[in-house]
Amino acid sequence: PHQFSGGQRQRIGIARGLALNPEIIVADEPVSALDVSVQAQVVNLLDRLQAEFNLSYVFIAHDLSIVRHISDRVGVMYLGRFVEIGTDAEIYDHPTHPYTQALLSAVPVPDPAAREFRERIILHGDVPSPANPPSGCRFRTRCWKAQKRCELEVPLLAVPAAFLDADSPARHASACHFAEEKRVVPPEGTLDAVPGEGGQEDAAGRAAEAAQATERPGPADRDEGPPPPSGSSRAV
Ligand code: SF4
Repeated sequence: PHQFSGGQRQRIGIARGLALNPEIIVADEPVSALDVSVQAQVVNLLDRLQAEFNLSYVFIAHDLSIVRHISDRVGVMYLGRFVEIGTDAEIYDHPTHPYTQALLSAVPVPDPAAREFRERIILHGDVPSPANPPSGCRFRTRCWKAQKRCELEVPLLAVPAAFLDADSPARHASACHFAEEKRVVPPEGTLDAVPGEGGQEDAAGRAAEAAQATERPGPADRDEGPPPPSGSSRAV
């Protein structure tokens, strides 16, 4: 087997997985350590097999663009726990958990105009040991919104109270006491220049407006005052 290439080994692994005629395949990092063209081949193969054999995948990966491409539902994990679950559009376009927002802000944006309106969130500190996780919210040691309540209470993975009655894609499960919708990159398509309407400059303005329009005011149940100044733990 050591003489096979990485892509060949992945295909062999997929063939072995299919041998028992499964309904579900758990694919743990199936495209990591492959070069981009081979990644595309493996993802296309998985797509084709899914349609042909009516398969479901549990797809575990760190590459957010591939996760979005292949997934119908996305779960974001931090330190061994789910922190946010929703459809791909809910998670990517309307994230409400600070960790998801920080992850998405790290995705490279190829369009220079869109990049200008991307809010980069830098997390400080190291990931704590899963053997000795922080009390309360596991993300609190790196979260710029952490307050006393985060130390004392484990946030449940559920639709936050602030969104229970909302008719919005932000209404999905998020394990945060202070969940707020925040779009960190402009929505797709808002930067397309429209002939006769001011071109790229106006398009960039529309993108900024669209990004601002998705930010909701703070949750009504926030009861411990405003979060600390963002400059102390976040660089934009
Ligand atoms: S519960 Fe608190 S520490 Fe955890 S993600 Fe939400 S604001 Fe941050």
